[in-house]
Amino acid sequence: MELTNIGTVKEILSRHGFSFSKGLGQNFIINPDICPKIAENGNAKQGYGILEIGTGIGVLTKELALRADKVSAVEIDTRLLPILGETLADFDNVKIYNEDVMKADLLGIIERDFAGLKTAVCANLPYYITSPVIMLLLESRLPIDSITVMVQKEAAQRLCAKVGTRDAGAITVGVNYYGTVKQLFGVSRGSFMPAPNVDSAVIRIDLDKTPRLSGEDEKFFFKVVKAGFSQRRKTMANSLASQLGAEKEQVYTVLRELGLSESARIEALDMEQLAAFSTRLHELMK
Ligand code: SAM
Repeated sequence: MELTNIGTVKEILSRHGFSFSKGLGQNFIINPDICPKIAENGNAKQGYGILEIGTGIGVLTKELALRADKVSAVEIDTRLLPILGETLADFDNVKIYNEDVMKADLLGIIERDFAGLKTAVCANLPYYITSPVIMLLLESRLPIDSITVMVQKEAAQRLCAKVGTRDAGAITVGVNYYGTVKQLFGVSRGSFMPAPNVDSAVIRIDLDKTPRLSGEDEKFFFKVVKAGFSQRRKTMANSLASQLGAEKEQVYTVLRELGLSESARIEALDMEQLAAFSTRLHELMK
């Protein structure tokens, strides 16, 4: 069944009385070039189990299942299950979990379904939860090699910005803390049904095997990042004094030690400087 053929898709959807939910971010891919490219760039190959988030009618699921050993997908919308039963009928290596990804036991799914395999995540993400899903995948420290996802173009720009520049945000630091991120290719709005009001891009995050900081320092690092970026136009001394209870003098001391200006803003620090800064401030505040 050709799931990028508009006629076929319309026929299946109308036969099942399906109407798109805007709230669930349902924009399905109809450009035939996109899903094979996501699968090929996303580790969908022998030896891998792929965790997919949000199947829609299974257009990407199918490309993943053709290439990887197994695919387990989490889809919140119960109305899609009978459709998937039809569109994925030829595949015996796909499992669908009718759950909310934010609440699902993703580690349990990986351990149960992908024993003996490596794991990667591939998805055309529902845009209303792009950052929460990415941070959930990273913070849960799931045993995954890579996350290859379609996101809104602006989100891709922020995620792939260089830490230490104005384009970066807390999410940029978060992603760069756990791995390396790059944009793979852009996707125009006309590649979807229905067409959204924005263009998209596919990014890939490769996860580091070992954590950068130890447990307590890691927690403190993210407190600094959250506090600093919530008031990013303020100096670090001001934002960390008001949000974290640091003394301004402590912040000045650490900035001086790192050869930075006392009036530095968080957006000026690169990844290494941020890690060194938070670890040293943590020490002084103990
Ligand atoms: N992969 C399909 C494609 O590319 O055509 C669908 C992508 S569509 C942008 C996002 C999908 O995520 C929808 O099928 C939607 O129902 C599902 N979804 C939305 N919120 C979800 C959640 N919290 N947990 C799991 N799936 C969700």
